[in-house]
Amino acid sequence: MRKQIAAANWKMNLTLQEAENLLTKIVSEQFELTENQKVVFAVPTPYLDMAIGKIAGHAKTFVAAQNVYSKKSGAYTGEISVTMLQSLKVDHAIIGHSERREYFGETNQLLAEKLTTCIETDITPIFCCGEALPVREVNQQNSYVTHQLEESLFHLSADQMEKVVIAYEPVWAIGTGKTASSEQAQEMHAYIRNELAKKYGEEVAGRISILYGGSVKAANAKEIFSQPDVDGGLVGGASLIAEEFIAIINALKG
Ligand code: PGA
Repeated sequence: MRKQIAAANWKMNLTLQEAENLLTKIVSEQFELTENQKVVFAVPTPYLDMAIGKIAGHAKTFVAAQNVYSKKSGAYTGEISVTMLQSLKVDHAIIGHSERREYFGETNQLLAEKLTTCIETDITPIFCCGEALPVREVNQQNSYVTHQLEESLFHLSADQMEKVVIAYEPVWAIGTGKTASSEQAQEMHAYIRNELAKKYGEEVAGRISILYGGSVKAANAKEIFSQPDVDGGLVGGASLIAEEFIAIINALKG
């Protein structure tokens, strides 16, 4: 069975002290993860090393960067590379979050390069896709997301594709308190899995985890995660509150 994943995206929040306290509180909870489950903390770059230290000894728990550049080294002031992540033992990275696309001009083409770089260096990419409200209002979400998948992902081989985690995050649900209904989430996740199946075959598509993101919280996680094609969540706001995130972890399918 494909992995069920609770991924925290802290975004640009918390001081070092606050971040340490939050992580200590969550990992000391001793949640029991099954073979199929994992927890990922996407922390701000300056806290990656601290987070790696905090999760040491906790099985099925990982640290992710919130972004990584496509080049492995060089004169790219301010960027971080996969080589740096490897040297910190960070093995996951969020790629193409809608905030990166919107505020930092990240294109599908750049994200395709980033994905290749991650795969080549064994960094598991959590690739974000999803439509904004005007696209949903004219019912174009399917073709919009297909375009994102085609331009950023479909150059990968089937073997490479199996290493990718996808996060479907409707932009209109991010940080707005407006969650997609569990039916809307299931519908899009099934659609994405079918697009993957058309390109890579049913078996490969069936092994890829597709997370839902957009105002997931303790109160709605169980219902959303119970949908057959929803394999957990990428969680922003609620991941900053220990009790909320612990409840979200406990809402994962087994
Ligand atoms: P949210 O953010 O849970 O605060 O809506 C999700 C995300 O942006 O990954």
